[in-house]
Amino acid sequence: MSKIKILPEILSNKIAAGEMVERPYSVVKELVENSLDADSTRVIVEVERGGRSLIQVSDNGTGMSADDALLSIERYATSKIYKDADLFSIKTLGFRGEALPSIASVSRFTLETRDQGSSVGTRIEIEGGKIRKVSEVGVPAGTLITVRDIFFNTPVRRKFLKTVNTEMSHIADMLANIAAGWHRVHFRLNHNSRTVRNWTPVSDPADRVADVLGKEMKNELQRVNASDEIFSLSGWIASARISRSTSRGIYVYVNGRCVQDRTVQHALFEGYEGRLMKGQFPMAVLFICTAPDQVDVNVHPRKNEVRFLQQNRIHSLVKNAVSSVLNRSERNLFDNHPPPLRSYTPPLPTEISEPFSYFNPPLPKMSLHHEEKSFFSEFYPTSSEQSPLWKKKQFADLKFIGQFHGTYIICESGEGLVLIDQHAAHERILFEQLKNRASVKTRQTLLIPETLDLSHTENDILETLLPAFEEIGFEIEPFGGNTSVVKSVPALLTGREIRPLITEIVEKAAVIGLSAGIDRIKDECLMLMACHAAVRANQELSEKEIKALLHQLEECENPSHCPHGRPIWIQWTTRFLEKSFNRTV
Ligand code: ADP
Ligand code: MG
Repeated sequence: MSKIKILPEILSNKIAAGEMVERPYSVVKELVENSLDADSTRVIVEVERGGRSLIQVSDNGTGMSADDALLSIERYATSKIYKDADLFSIKTLGFRGEALPSIASVSRFTLETRDQGSSVGTRIEIEGGKIRKVSEVGVPAGTLITVRDIFFNTPVRRKFLKTVNTEMSHIADMLANIAAGWHRVHFRLNHNSRTVRNWTPVSDPADRVADVLGKEMKNELQRVNASDEIFSLSGWIASARISRSTSRGIYVYVNGRCVQDRTVQHALFEGYEGRLMKGQFPMAVLFICTAPDQVDVNVHPRKNEVRFLQQNRIHSLVKNAVSSVLNRSERNLFDNHPPPLRSYTPPLPTEISEPFSYFNPPLPKMSLHHEEKSFFSEFYPTSSEQSPLWKKKQFADLKFIGQFHGTYIICESGEGLVLIDQHAAHERILFEQLKNRASVKTRQTLLIPETLDLSHTENDILETLLPAFEEIGFEIEPFGGNTSVVKSVPALLTGREIRPLITEIVEKAAVIGLSAGIDRIKDECLMLMACHAAVRANQELSEKEIKALLHQLEECENPSHCPHGRPIWIQWTTRFLEKSFNRTV
């Protein structure tokens, strides 16, 4: 007897479901995409218990006739492609004909639908892939799909479902991704009968984008528009100032399909070149349109990746468009406003008016950092002569020479030449002060409270973190929906922009996960606060300010590395310099 068997249809549907129906949000995604393919202008998503007990999507689209409804639940049944060639000119979001049968194979599934031409609708009930009942039903034109008890017959998958909050935030984020690209469609998301998202149709796509990214973004967005013979690019990018620590603020649409695309992301980064701090991501919404035969959408079962036929072309289009928008806006900024006069006052009253005295402070351990050693040894095999560093080990005793590129402080030590990264140094100082609770006790009430409009997920995280925020000196109150109000901030942050900091803290918490523990998250908060409050690179400092900075650095427990682990200073010994110039052997 042959060992090879053809799988029964229900089983093969379940296997397909394993690929595409990963979590409740993927069910919502497939159903919403079907609604959009059916030209709906209103899509309502109803979810209970994060999708565990109910996912329901209703639309006012074309609907289906009774025959089509029965066909739609068959594997590989699709109205979107008919012949081989169609696969290379796909204009719809769906085309694989797998979603409905896959979803129906792992849930209790009901389809109700009516097309404009039929006076009565069709209702099909399916349980774990088996059709239980087909009947006529009086329903409005359009389609309503109800998915109950997802994975009830695949218990292992059900176990992989995360908490209600996690599943819900995936759903809300995914819907936001789709909604940002379909501004004429009304989307509503209800959870446990409460409306959590409602995007009404708008005529200007910018309004929808601002609605999805948070209202405060609207003024920060700059228009991108470019095209060549193959591609047209439009959308918005935000200035590098409001970068994020994850790629979640990057939305890329190719012919209306929201995709993760490395080529476009890479080009976007290159467009921002030199403007983003390491590890930061820009915020951008980019729409790319091209002829369907220029892009292969059949790359991934979940259809969230594409392959461009002409990758280099789209790369340079995006990169050039982004960099020219940023260049232009920076030039304008400079033309319209004189560069702001920056003044920097170190946060603690350590400005030096009297000679500084020492009572044998604990000597910080200093040696060349590992990377620097290897850096030097690559060029001059003399690394062993770089350490130990200056003997007195006192930053306060350094002789100030000047500032380089508004970023590095140049000093002379007894041993040689020292370069200090001013941002890293100040970050370390503030971080330690914050940790020691010196400045957090003092709060500053904001004259005008700041409103924070976050995404659903971010707001959830913020609410969980409220006690931690309170402890480090913030006063933040929920305002209803996904909005919160910041009433006071730690005094240290007076005059600094608050929104980007809080968003970054929330994002960081999302990345490391709340389960990492509140202490770990609090430490991250302090690091970010220090980073936001610290002097920037490209900031001219007066000699007095620099001396104050060096004195404070002296007081630090770890004056060698910033809280993220970057080195604060490097030193070239006189001996090393002399050898390099062949003054000695
Ligand atoms: P695909 O979208 O890849 O074609 P699906 O399994 O998602 O496959 O859907 C099968 C077919 O059912 C679609 O091609 C479409 O004709 C029909 N269909 C599904 N959902 C809807 C809907 N909401 N409105 C109208 N037709 C739909
Ligand atoms: Mg589909």
